[in-house]
Formats: sequence, C-alpha cells, structure tokens
Amino acid sequence: MDNDLLSGKVVLITGASSGIGAAAARVFAREGATVVLTARREERLAALTAELRDKGVRAGYVVGDVSVAADAARAVDFAVAEYGRLDAAFNNAGIGGDRTPLHLMTDDVYDTVMDTNVRGVFNCLRYEIAAMLDHGRGSVVNNSSVGGLVAIPTAAPYIASKHAVIGFTRAAADEYAKQGIRVNAVAPGTTRSEITADWFGRNPGLEDLANSLTPQGRTAAPEEIAEAAAWLLSDRCPFLTGTVLPVDGGFVNQ
Ligand code: NDP
Repeated sequence: MDNDLLSGKVVLITGASSGIGAAAARVFAREGATVVLTARREERLAALTAELRDKGVRAGYVVGDVSVAADAARAVDFAVAEYGRLDAAFNNAGIGGDRTPLHLMTDDVYDTVMDTNVRGVFNCLRYEIAAMLDHGRGSVVNNSSVGGLVAIPTAAPYIASKHAVIGFTRAAADEYAKQGIRVNAVAPGTTRSEITADWFGRNPGLEDLANSLTPQGRTAAPEEIAEAAAWLLSDRCPFLTGTVLPVDGGFVNQ
C-alpha cells in the first residue's frame, strides 16, 4: 500500500476525540494528511495530537462545540492560519441521543440531537466551504448513518437528524460542484464506539439484534468507516459528488 491517498492535504476532522473520528485522524495521517482535530474533550484531543506528532505527523487541535457557529469558524480559521489552507473536511461529530419511543421523546433529546448532528454540520459546512472557495477546490465528507437512509426503532430524532445530514450533503454538492468542491456522505452501519457502547449498555439485546440484522453478522471497527471517508475525501474519485456511501456490512441492501 502506498499510503498517499491524502498526501499533502490539510484535513479537518470533527468529533476527533473518540470512535470513528479518532480512527479517521490515524487513518488520514497514515495516508499523508496534515490533520486538524476538533471536539469538546481537550485531554483526548491533546493525547491524540501528541501521539500523531510523535510519528512525525503535522497535527493540531481546536477545542470546540460544533453546535456553536463561532467554534466551527475557529477550527477552520486555525487550519488556514496554521497550515495555509483547508483541502478537506470530515464532518463526523454526532450524538445518538436516548433511545425512547417517539411519543415519549423529550424536547431535550430533540434539541441536543438536532443541535449537534444537524446544526453542527450546517455550521461546519458554511465555514469549510468559504475557506475552500478561497483556495478554489475542496472535498467534504459528512458522517450520516444507515439511519439517514432507513428507520431504526426508538431513535426518531437521530433518524431525522441523519436524514438532514444527507439533505445538506446533496444541497452543498449541487451548489458548489462548478467551483471544484465535492461533498459526499458516508452512512455507517453499527460501529463499535462510545455511542454504541452507551446504547448497548442501556438496551440489553440491542447488540445481538444489530448483528442479526446485518448480512455480514457483525459490527464495524471505526477504522472501516474512516477508510471509506479517506477515499471519498481523496483525489481518487473526482467525479463523485452528492452521493451517500453505505459502509454497513450490507444492511441497507437487504
Ligand atoms: P463517539 O461517541 O465515539 O464519537 C462522537 C464524537 O463526536 C466524539 O469525538 C465527540 O467528542 C464528538 N461530539 C459530540 N458532540 C459534539 C459537539 N457538540 N461538538 C463537537 N464534537 C462533538 O461515536 P461515533 O464515533 O460512533 O460517532 C461518530 C459519528 O458517527 C456520529 O456522527 C455518529 O452519528 C456516526 N455514526 C455512528 C454509528 C455507530 O454505530 N457508532 C453508526 C452510524 C453513524 P466530544 O464529546 O469530545 O465533544
């Protein structure tokens, strides 16, 4: 393997403190990227940045909340100020929210899920695209979910939020196609991370159910999602924009 998929590119990763985002930081760095990490937990970001720098990777981090527009702007500004431009972004930050039947769902769950998963992507896209327009090209991957394509029980705000992420992906891809900016999404199936550890911990039987509903009969490692995002962000697929790539062991294909 050449390990040059993202060689020379400056890539912003949101939600880089754990799970798929942390895996993406390692995979993108291995593929030659300079990585800018953002999330709310500074200790995690500092440790991962140090790990990458020890391997000779150019890496920096910005503590921030994607649901706050000024924080999203700061992350993009940091990438441009520190490394000269923003070539690519993986808008991965997201939360699952409590699993509850829709008629019992609270305003709080709705607000936090929508603010993080939808407003967060909206905030990041605005500032990332502005920076990419300055540079004349760019590539963005938003992290949706199989829940952005089909329903999953007891997670209505999450399902709605991930459908909205696909809506933003399509809208942005269409608007900026002629300006050299590609926007795609990944739709992961069940992936081992803090979100699923929380869901499985509080809902006995859910992990077995997820496995049984997946043709490959298993969950994904976070790196499996990161590898797909790396390819979508790279220059190896220049005619690909506005698409949603399920990375799901065959789940939505059934
Ligand atoms: P994790 O909980 O491990 O990671 C979520 C990441 O998002 C953390 O780094 C967290 O960091 C960050 N985050 C959460 N809220 C905010 C916020 N307001 N501002 C900035 N960062 C935030 O779970 P995953 O790795 O699984 O989740 C990553 C993405 O993958 C999510 O969008 C999720 O919906 C999606 N996904 C996951 C699936 C799975 O089965 N795991 C399946 C389909 C999609 P911090 O707390 O430090 O801010």
